[in-house]
Amino acid sequence: MQERYYKFSSYLKRRFSQKVHKISVDAGFSCPNRDGTKSKEGCIFCNNRGFSLNSRISPRPLELQIKEGMDFNRARFGAERFIIYFQAYTNTYASLGTLKERYDTVKRFKDIVGISIGTRPDCIDEDILSLIDSYTEDYEVWLEYGLQTIHEKTLAFINRGHTYQDFLRAVELTRKREKIKVCAHVIIGLPGESMEMVLETAKELGRLKLEGIKIHPLHVIRGTRLEEMFSQGLTETLELDEYLELVTRFLEYLWPETVIQRISANCPREFLVDPLWILQKGRILEKIEERLLSESKFQGRLWVG
Ligand code: SF4
Repeated sequence: MQERYYKFSSYLKRRFSQKVHKISVDAGFSCPNRDGTKSKEGCIFCNNRGFSLNSRISPRPLELQIKEGMDFNRARFGAERFIIYFQAYTNTYASLGTLKERYDTVKRFKDIVGISIGTRPDCIDEDILSLIDSYTEDYEVWLEYGLQTIHEKTLAFINRGHTYQDFLRAVELTRKREKIKVCAHVIIGLPGESMEMVLETAKELGRLKLEGIKIHPLHVIRGTRLEEMFSQGLTETLELDEYLELVTRFLEYLWPETVIQRISANCPREFLVDPLWILQKGRILEKIEERLLSESKFQGRLWVG
C-alpha cells in the first residue's frame, strides 16, 4: 500500500541498503539563547534534559556516547549503520576549530554513514557551511534548523530570539551547498496559534521544498518557563484529537518529497508535565495513519509548489 506520508524509515531503507539508526549525542555545545548573547532564559519550552538521553546523564566524552549508542542499537535493533545526530543545544555555536574537532569524532568509527547537525537559523554562516559541506564527501549530511513556526508574534512569545527571516536566510545560504540536506523543526499547538496559523507554516514549508521536517505537538517539560505558564493556567496543550486534525492537515500542504523525520514527541515520563498522551507514541502513529486513511488525506495532496 502507498504510504500516506514519507516516513524517515522508508527514506533510510531506500537510501541505504542496510539498517540505519540515528544516535543522538550531546557534544558539549552551548546556545546563544541561554548564555546571555540573545537571552539567558532560552526558549520557553526548552529543557535539553527532557530532549536527549545524553543530556540527562552526566557529561561523557563524545566518543563514548557514540560507541555506547552504536552498541545499544546493534544489540537491540540489529542496526548496521549509523547517523550521528548532534542534537543538544546549538551545534554550530563554537569556533570553527572546536566544531571541526567535535564533528571529526565520527571519523573514528567505520559504520557511520551520516551526520545530522541541529542548530538555530541565526547560528550559520559561510565559513561554518564550508566546514559542514566538507563532510558531504564521505557522509550524508543534514542540517536541522529549529524554526517551530513562521509567525513572528509566536517566535517572540516563545522567546526564540530569531525571526522567520533568519530562517529564510539560513535556508538560502545552505541551498548553495547542494549536498547538504535541510530539515526544519516545527511545533504544533504553540500558544496563541490558530489552525490557520499552523497551516500557514505548513504552506510556507511546502513552498520551500525542504528535504526533511520534524513535527511534534507542544508539550510541557519540567523546569521550563512553559511549565510556570501552564501551572498558572496561562497556556494550554492540545488534546490528542486536536493534534491529529492539525498534523494530518499540515501534512497535506507539504512537498510530497519532504521526509517526515518525526511526527510525535519524545519525552521521558519524569520530565513530562502535559499532555500525557504523547507517551503513547505507537498509538499516536497508528491514529495518524487511521485519520489519513479514513479522510483520504495524504502528504502533498494540497501542496501548491
Ligand atoms: S535554541 Fe534550542 S537549546 Fe537554545 S534555548 Fe532554544 S530550544 Fe533550547
